Amino acid sequence: MRTPVSTTQELLDRRAAAIPKGPFNVAPIFVDHAEGAYVWDIDGNRYLDFCSGISTLNVGHNHPRIVEAVKAQADRLIHACWHVAMYEPYVHLAERLNDLVPIEEPCKTALFNSGAEAVENAVKIARLFTGRPAVVAFERAFHGRTLLGMSMTGKVAPYSAGFGPFAPEVYRLPYRPFFDQPGDRTDEQVAADCTRTVADLFKYQIDADSVACITMEPVLGEGGFFPAHPAAVRTLREICNEHGIVFIADEVQSGLGRCGAMFACERYGVEPDLITMAKSLAGGMPLSAVTGRAEIMDAPHVGGIGGTFGGNPVACAAAHAVLDVLQGDGFFEHAQAIGDRVMPALKRLADQYPHISSVRGLGAMCAFELTDPVTGAPNTAATNGIIRRARERGLLLMSASGNVIRLLMPLIITMEQLDEALTILADSVADELSTT
Ligand code: PLP
Repeated sequence: MRTPVSTTQELLDRRAAAIPKGPFNVAPIFVDHAEGAYVWDIDGNRYLDFCSGISTLNVGHNHPRIVEAVKAQADRLIHACWHVAMYEPYVHLAERLNDLVPIEEPCKTALFNSGAEAVENAVKIARLFTGRPAVVAFERAFHGRTLLGMSMTGKVAPYSAGFGPFAPEVYRLPYRPFFDQPGDRTDEQVAADCTRTVADLFKYQIDADSVACITMEPVLGEGGFFPAHPAAVRTLREICNEHGIVFIADEVQSGLGRCGAMFACERYGVEPDLITMAKSLAGGMPLSAVTGRAEIMDAPHVGGIGGTFGGNPVACAAAHAVLDVLQGDGFFEHAQAIGDRVMPALKRLADQYPHISSVRGLGAMCAFELTDPVTGAPNTAATNGIIRRARERGLLLMSASGNVIRLLMPLIITMEQLDEALTILADSVADELSTT
């Protein structure tokens, strides 16, 4: 282990002096090294990491196959720029992703760096394919922090407040009835509610014939871990078919094993036209992709999409190793088994504490929401209190949407490690909620 050169307090002071406060930090710690489900800070404290770099580490920290792939590729070629001279790992990764996405028709893939870039490029591609300007996104959606990503993101503070003017031609669907339905609604009722809501959008906000794409996270990530209702996803697919609209599944957070399948859309049995992915795609190396129907992907002219670093060879090599791990024996079954262990544990907590108003998830993308038991107001104080107490006990957690605690454990976690984390979580919840 490297000898730490500074204390945490010294680095916090240097961070405050050298780096603006805009880029937020979940935990006031500095990481020294990490392995599997654990990270160690520079003071030697060990944490079970239930943030996973905000879901970039589905295969865990420093997976040996990824470390090996990165080293081997760095020895051969670190960068060439795809637009200057091509290399096989990009081609092969595109071939693999084309085969992996749940889309029957022939597919093509373009590689970028970040989730926001993938979303922006998916929109550009959809616009050229349809010849239409408008983009439809959801309330509570998160699509990134670039101008268009921020404009599509369906929450004001902290993402877009004060940053206008925003990208034009972005129209918004409410998150209900698509994501949050009372449990007693039948599929038919949900479908009818969704159809009516989209019809209102087309009647009062934007003509359907002007809409290039509808972008949907199958499970809202930053927006609070709301899985879409299956009937809502099916209904949107039908509406897109009817009006020639490109259906984009933003799987930047929900994809690559998190929901107990390679892509969350598979759990819904619905084929999108384009899928955006990033985060866990390259196990922590910056890489994102848009994969989708070849006829749509081929719409942009030569030079219309791309970027200097997009599909960097080292990131591609890491992605191949990630896909090897994901496609290994039982990876998705284990992810689902994690969710199957977590959900009842969260429900037991909800039965004990009226402050926990909702427990929800798909696969291993699980969360619980904290509200005031009397007023129903979001309880961010208790949320932050639980996160702090868990950290003090050696478990890194983070919130979504202010009052939701999301559990983003690496999916290689053992059941023993998971149980240890769930015990820490239960103790932290007990300490926080029995004092409020
Ligand atoms: N789309 C979704 C669904 C996300 O969760 C995120 C990031 O959290 C993004 C897009 C943006 O990704 P990035 O931060 O890599 O730009």
